[in-house]
Amino acid sequence: MTFFKHYGIPAFNLDRQSWQLREEIISAIKQVLDSGRFVMDAQVIACEKEIARYVGVDYAVACASGTDALHLALKAIGIHVGDEVITSAFTFAATAEAIAYTGATPVFADIDPETFNLSCSSVAARISSKSKAVIAVHLFGHPAEMATLQMLCREHGLFLLEDCAQAFGALYQGKPIGGIADAGCHSFYPSKNLAACGDGGMITLHDPDHTEILRCLRNHGDIGYCHHRMIGYNSRLDELQAAVLLVKLKYLNEWNNRRRYLAARYDQLLAPLSSVTVPRVRPGCEHIYNQYTIRVPQRDKVRTGLAERGIDSRIYYPRILPEQPAFLVRGSDFRQLYPHALTAAAECLSLPLFPEMSDHDVDKVTQALADVCAK
Ligand SMILES: *Cc1c(COP(=O)(O)O)cnc(C)c1O
Repeated sequence: MTFFKHYGIPAFNLDRQSWQLREEIISAIKQVLDSGRFVMDAQVIACEKEIARYVGVDYAVACASGTDALHLALKAIGIHVGDEVITSAFTFAATAEAIAYTGATPVFADIDPETFNLSCSSVAARISSKSKAVIAVHLFGHPAEMATLQMLCREHGLFLLEDCAQAFGALYQGKPIGGIADAGCHSFYPSKNLAACGDGGMITLHDPDHTEILRCLRNHGDIGYCHHRMIGYNSRLDELQAAVLLVKLKYLNEWNNRRRYLAARYDQLLAPLSSVTVPRVRPGCEHIYNQYTIRVPQRDKVRTGLAERGIDSRIYYPRILPEQPAFLVRGSDFRQLYPHALTAAAECLSLPLFPEMSDHDVDKVTQALADVCAK
């Protein structure tokens, strides 16, 4: 068994985790196979219950992906054509795609250069009479500035959604993210901290009426017995994925603690490198490091240097959303509107980090980075 086929140290790898949990996962899969029930049955119900409990909310609605979780949550709160929804210029495309699916317009705000998350003052500056909601993204595993965003949204009568795709298990002022605002949207895509063996998503929330709409929307608008209350979607979660998630949820805190330990080791070993800025953690926030993202000038050169030394790394994200052809805002002045997001896109580099990495792997990465930066 070779864990790392292409690189000395990969940026991310699930092989070791799958080997460690192999028997447990296979037994969960067998149970589903023997039940003969494959879509939204006992495992999904149990998974919704466990995740609602973990996040500290009354309701959880499973769906097919994190993108669907965002889309359905926006539909459930009534976002439609003509509305504007504000989100970060520096996030995965899915956050803005979900807004566009509803017919609303994504309006991008700049970021806080220290955490890569939404800048509250930039959000405030983008609010218009058409604004209906804000989607805060807990990017890389660091909670967004929720208290200020909540105040701002309350003041202007806006909904506040959380894109929790990269931050399952992170805490904000002692509370799990996903239960803080109007709805938390989760992804169980394999690269996330709580990962299915395929796609999966969930919405966590406190509101029973929105929950009822979400349950309809994910299953063809059906309220049961082929009574179609609204035009819905096929966005159901498979029993197999729910069974896998139930196994992995038990290990999540342990894995997130291990990520934090490895991140602290990086922080310490990278401190002497003056050209490297390590990720900042705000007081009251517990970061779960879905990515350990540093800033470094001449980022592309550094990345090549690492690759030459057998160290894989990733760039999330090389281009901000307002400059992507899909979201191009014509006539807008990027330099002026998104100075911090643009700098982040030019300098960010995610180093290898996953719970199964050894301490020695971290030492090797930092040694290679010191080597490259000295050149
Ligand atoms: C992964 C991700 C999504 C989308 O989740 P999928 O399950 O892949 O659809 C949305 N937002 C962010 C920030 C993500 O990282």
